[in-house]
Amino acid sequence: MRVRFWGTRGSLPVAQKAGAIQAKIARALVAAGGQVFADEAQATAFAKANLDFATFGAYGGATSCVEIEGADDAYIVCDMGSGLREFGIDAFRRCAAGHARVFHIFLSHLHWDHIMGFPFFGPAFDPGATIVFHTGHPDAEQALRRQQEEISFPVPFDWLKAKMSFEVHQVAQPFEVGGVTVTLIQQHHSHESFGYQFVRDGRSVIYSTDSEHKLDNMESEAAFEAFFADADLVICDTMYSLGDTVSLKQDWGHSSNIVAIDLCHAAGAKRLALFHHEPTYADEDIQRMHAESVRYEELVRADRPELEVLCAYDGLEVEI
Ligand SMILES: [Zn+2]
Ligand SMILES: [Zn+2]
Repeated sequence: MRVRFWGTRGSLPVAQKAGAIQAKIARALVAAGGQVFADEAQATAFAKANLDFATFGAYGGATSCVEIEGADDAYIVCDMGSGLREFGIDAFRRCAAGHARVFHIFLSHLHWDHIMGFPFFGPAFDPGATIVFHTGHPDAEQALRRQQEEISFPVPFDWLKAKMSFEVHQVAQPFEVGGVTVTLIQQHHSHESFGYQFVRDGRSVIYSTDSEHKLDNMESEAAFEAFFADADLVICDTMYSLGDTVSLKQDWGHSSNIVAIDLCHAAGAKRLALFHHEPTYADEDIQRMHAESVRYEELVRADRPELEVLCAYDGLEVEI
């Protein structure tokens, strides 16, 4: 399986402002220290080798959308945040090259940042496309129709041309999609959210966003430890720093990097992707949180095997 991140930001899409780009360029120029590069390729090679991600890259600002490649003849997509728009454009390209026009979309929940990309999803206008929405929420169709009512959007849901259907699933009842076994878990979030486990050929990916795990309540997290057990990759809501979750933002429905690492350690997971980044965090803040996460993992690892801590960004691809 291959996991492709199209949107990794939480709550609200964000864009880089001119000042942030200017600061990155200034840092890069200082780091180059007057060196002369013959062309852009040389400059790029220098930047890749010498600059940190927050200077030479960007975490991106599209809201939750993750593709899991590996199903037979179908796309698997988790959530429809604003990242779904770009996924749709890329899917058109791949469909033109022969990929089946079948989309299985797994919804964690119906908060706006997880469905706002759908009105801009090109394949929904394709009469040859099939879209199956998988959800734990019986009111998923209502949520999608409502965001396209005339008062909010010019194109009503009924104008869409793709063949669309909704499948409401129960937790802990595995089902099969294109050769991939999928299981849901109920999570701690307002109006409930659901996490998904995807298993194929002994490899597993967990998509678990918008869930509040509390450090002082880890005994009740046994169900999540079992759900994350031995996962090859856990994509986990780590919206806030630990300081924020225990002070300001307790009960806001999101988790910290620290709790996610503790859960993954307990579960024996192999890789964790920090996900659903706080929209007010600059690239430097997210990079610092990633570095602190890696350090914390080393400190508390003890005799467990290493948990690799990745920081998801728009455009990241991970081979499982
Ligand atoms: Zn969210
Ligand atoms: Zn939410």
